[in-house]
Amino acid sequence: MQTYDAIVLGAGVIGSSVAYHLARLGCTNVLVLDRTQIGAGTTSQSSGILRTHYSVIENVRLAQASWQVFNDFAGYLGDEEASAGMVKCGYLIAAPDGSKLPPLRASLQAQQAQGIEVRLLDAREAQALLPIARFDDAALIGYEPEAGFADAYLVATSFARAARRLGVKIREGVEVEMLLLEGGKVAGVRTSQGTFFSDKVISTQNIWATDIERWTGIASPVVPERHAVLALETPSAPYTFQMPVYKDLGSPGMLYCRSYGGKQMLVSEGTVGETLASPDNEQGDIGIDYMVEVGAQVAERFPAYEAAGIASSWTGVYDVTPDWNPVLGGLPDVPGLVVGYGFSGHGFKLSPAVGRVLAQAALGLATDVDITAYALERFRNGGLLTGKYGLGAVS
Ligand SMILES: Cc1cc2nc3c(=O)[nH]c(=O)nc-3n(C[C@H](O)[C@H](O)[C@H](O)COP(=O)(O)OP(=O)(O)OC[C@H]3O[C@@H](n4cnc5c(N)ncnc54)[C@H](O)[C@@H]3O)c2cc1C
Repeated sequence: MQTYDAIVLGAGVIGSSVAYHLARLGCTNVLVLDRTQIGAGTTSQSSGILRTHYSVIENVRLAQASWQVFNDFAGYLGDEEASAGMVKCGYLIAAPDGSKLPPLRASLQAQQAQGIEVRLLDAREAQALLPIARFDDAALIGYEPEAGFADAYLVATSFARAARRLGVKIREGVEVEMLLLEGGKVAGVRTSQGTFFSDKVISTQNIWATDIERWTGIASPVVPERHAVLALETPSAPYTFQMPVYKDLGSPGMLYCRSYGGKQMLVSEGTVGETLASPDNEQGDIGIDYMVEVGAQVAERFPAYEAAGIASSWTGVYDVTPDWNPVLGGLPDVPGLVVGYGFSGHGFKLSPAVGRVLAQAALGLATDVDITAYALERFRNGGLLTGKYGLGAVS
């Protein structure tokens, strides 16, 4: 009999963070199971942008709590070798006159009310920070100097290593085939390598959270959606590490851009992607038409990128819920089961705080940040968390 105090399904950045936080809260007899390897799921495909800008206030709170962790990652983990790979270059977000302007203004004000440093810039100030872009159409520009980007894979593996040091067991290459219930309560899991018992299971399975529906009959409202990421390069206009992440609410695809490797531009759209028939994070094709279309949007904002070449590209899959926000917390109909899925393309920046609140929820403790609004029931009772920029975008 292999019995644990808690079992975590999935060793992505969320599951690794849950495991670390369980141990930090004193629960060290923990087993983490992943069918592949730590961070090899959708975490390894992340663009890694860290910001607290959101139009949904609950997300601002989780991002703010997470930011404290990223800001002193090695200190937080008590591991001087740990690194989040952070580049603190700031986050610029701009909107022209039109529908995106009121939500941008309201969101910036809400961030300031939370005590987050956010400045309003004029076009000249924005240009000084990001000289390769044009801002002549911007009606409002916000700047979050403490934001930037980091490496999601490094963060996942660092959480996992710190968890292991506290006694957590992480087993890779183990497929979870079934959640075991006894009298309607969680009793453990059956896997490709045997059965493991626990009265607490935390599922952080991302696009594969549909397993929960198969195992319990409780709907998991999550669909896999593929998104493309391009790395563009033009020798005349390098996108350096000193230049901020840029969110262009004026472009049709609501593009986000950041430095990649200190000279290329990583760019992707903030709109709805390609829905997949089944959960799968294999690489997909990126059509020439798509590249041309995104390239044209980039050139509109960054004139020197008219001549840019595509240095590399990849696809990644989002676990999208109907309101583009995650489901967090216990499922009341299955005592002992806690879930964290549906991050809809913005879960990395929330991962430290989400890991901690899910660990707290699993242990029956009060959560540091209130997660009531993220309950699964919201899809039945109408309390959706849809962001003011619409589906996709910033949330
Ligand atoms: C292209 C792209 C760009 C992104 N950009 C950003 C960004 O800029 N900023 C940001 O904050 N977020 C971003 N995200 C989102 C963020 O990366 C994700 O929300 C986060 O990495 C998800 O982590 P996870 O642990 O939930 O999922 P995953 O990393 O997918 O982990 C889930 C794990 O569960 C395992 N698993 C599932 N089912 C089973 C089973 N039955 N048995 C065993 N193992 C199982 C899988 O093998 C997998 O390893 C982006 C995502 C993508 C795809």
